[in-house]
Amino acid sequence: MNNRKELKEIFFETKRLISACEEMGLEPPMLPKGALEFMERPVLKNPAPASETQTIKPPSPQFDSLEDLRAHMGDCRRCDLHEGRKNLVFGEGNPEAKLVFVGEGPGFDEDREGRPFVGKSGQLLTRIIENGMGLTREAVYICNVVKCRPPGNRDPKPDEISVCLPFLKAQLSVIGPDVICALGRVACQALMGSDFKITRDRGQWRIYEGIPLMPTFHPAYLLRNAAAKRPVWDDVKSIMGKLGLEVK
Ligand code: URA
Repeated sequence: MNNRKELKEIFFETKRLISACEEMGLEPPMLPKGALEFMERPVLKNPAPASETQTIKPPSPQFDSLEDLRAHMGDCRRCDLHEGRKNLVFGEGNPEAKLVFVGEGPGFDEDREGRPFVGKSGQLLTRIIENGMGLTREAVYICNVVKCRPPGNRDPKPDEISVCLPFLKAQLSVIGPDVICALGRVACQALMGSDFKITRDRGQWRIYEGIPLMPTFHPAYLLRNAAAKRPVWDDVKSIMGKLGLEVK
């Protein structure tokens, strides 16, 4: 990579990080005053592609509704994942759900349909919700850490997560569920921090912003490891207990 390209990447990466901090209500990283002023200057010469110059909206207000939040995201180009997506998969379900499931990010089927958890692992999650818990998909809310499909279903990268996480956090804040179920390592670490170890820590109640959070295995893992079904069923029963649902 030549110096100019590398500098440009550092510039836009730093800009993205500053905007992510603002979205999360955090102080921006410590940068010299001159560097911050430089970052804030519009790019005039050799305009970069839209993905790089998109005006970043000011720090998120408190959103009144999921619709407002979705509108705020707009035709999101805040990270590179937008380049390969067919649809931004915001999330779906009851905006006043008592239970929210958080996955990692859309896969092929979700990207195609613009809906979360509709592929093979989604069908398993639906069976857990409907047959296991006796609820419906419409009664709960289902969303992901990143809203656009990582190419080839790879894990979302840390910078993609940090840019998109404020939107998940805003979704959780608008819905205000009684329980969050975080599905798999990526979702658990995004909400609980990178020290979280899914094999060690799943099944143990945590608290996210005052809301009880149950970390459990991702349904895609269950499809590959039948032995994981038992612990997940234990976690599901624990969630049902917390929600006051009858466990049969
Ligand atoms: N896996 C996820 O984490 N989320 C989806 O929406 C689908 C598969």
